[in-house]
Amino acid sequence: MIFDPSKPPLTDSAGLLKSIPVEAEPEIWKRATKVFSSGLCDLQVNGFAGVDYNDPTLMPEEFEKSLFTMLSTGVTTCLPTVITGSEDWQIQCFHALEEGRNSSKLAQTMIPGYHLEGPFLNPEEGFCGCHPSKWMRPATWDHFERLQEAAGGRIKLITVAPEIKGVLDLIPKLVEKGIAVAIGHCNPDHDTLLRAADAGVTLSTHLGNGIAQILPKKDNPILGQLAEDRFSASFIADGVHQQPHVLRVYLRAKQSSRTILVTDGTSCSAALPGRYSLGQVDIEHQQEDIVYIPGTKMLAGSAATLSKCVANVVDWYGVPFDEVIRWASEQPRRLIGLPESLLIGSSQSKVTWEMGLQKPIVEKVHLGNWKLENI
Ligand SMILES: [Zn+2]
Repeated sequence: MIFDPSKPPLTDSAGLLKSIPVEAEPEIWKRATKVFSSGLCDLQVNGFAGVDYNDPTLMPEEFEKSLFTMLSTGVTTCLPTVITGSEDWQIQCFHALEEGRNSSKLAQTMIPGYHLEGPFLNPEEGFCGCHPSKWMRPATWDHFERLQEAAGGRIKLITVAPEIKGVLDLIPKLVEKGIAVAIGHCNPDHDTLLRAADAGVTLSTHLGNGIAQILPKKDNPILGQLAEDRFSASFIADGVHQQPHVLRVYLRAKQSSRTILVTDGTSCSAALPGRYSLGQVDIEHQQEDIVYIPGTKMLAGSAATLSKCVANVVDWYGVPFDEVIRWASEQPRRLIGLPESLLIGSSQSKVTWEMGLQKPIVEKVHLGNWKLENI
């Protein structure tokens, strides 16, 4: 075990009843060949199955097709994520996503809202990651409101850099509106980090990524965020964004109750190797599910599926399956204020996992009337 094994309470602070995330006691599922869980929830997905969600020309049919493929991997809830771009471009991306959502029952069921990652981020090299830094801006409420309006009021999660002008003032207003606030692509000093926590930040976005290669050893934004218990942290457990032995250290610091798995998936996810796009950025899906900016070793999101990340963590560390399911299902839902499970008892969402193999794999997915089976 790499964690304090104490489990979270049966109800959260809002009194929401937790359902059973895995439909069996650990002693039973350890011997079982099939296990049921509630559907997975991915808080950060920029595209899927060859379809880029950061594309103003996104077609509703293509969008729905990509969601069907995502559903087949066990994800029943996701936040399509729009990265940094000009205001005009981000508005067009949200319009295209809204058009896709409004024309698809599946999209309306799977998508409770969006994740806005930028433009209120740190433009310095190393911290901006693959985002186009020329569009990063100081934060204003008016700017956010224009984006929120384009998103139909559905921005549920925003990633900001607290050291950027205007951000510390923006955070409490966002929290008041029920929007979860994360920090990422940032380089705050410790005092600014604490002020962000006081203002209501609850998440570190893909902690350990979107940050400079070389950092001061005595204190730096990674250590500061690992030490701050008011922040949960999301991780991309694909073995590339952090090597397994490094992720083990992060998980020990955040403990089970503050760990969330995301994919930061792109159009490369569940797609063949080749050239794709992430908004205005060209990306290349190489073998072994790695996504780079072509000609560089700079990561640009992932090609991992959330079910693969779940399986990786079970495989690498022997963390109990039901515990990892919480990281990819209940805990991300709780962070954005959704019921923690999609009512497994009434079969609103159910994932059947085949456990008899080396790693758990998704065999069947039920979401409402949709039933998919992976052959
Ligand atoms: Zn990012």
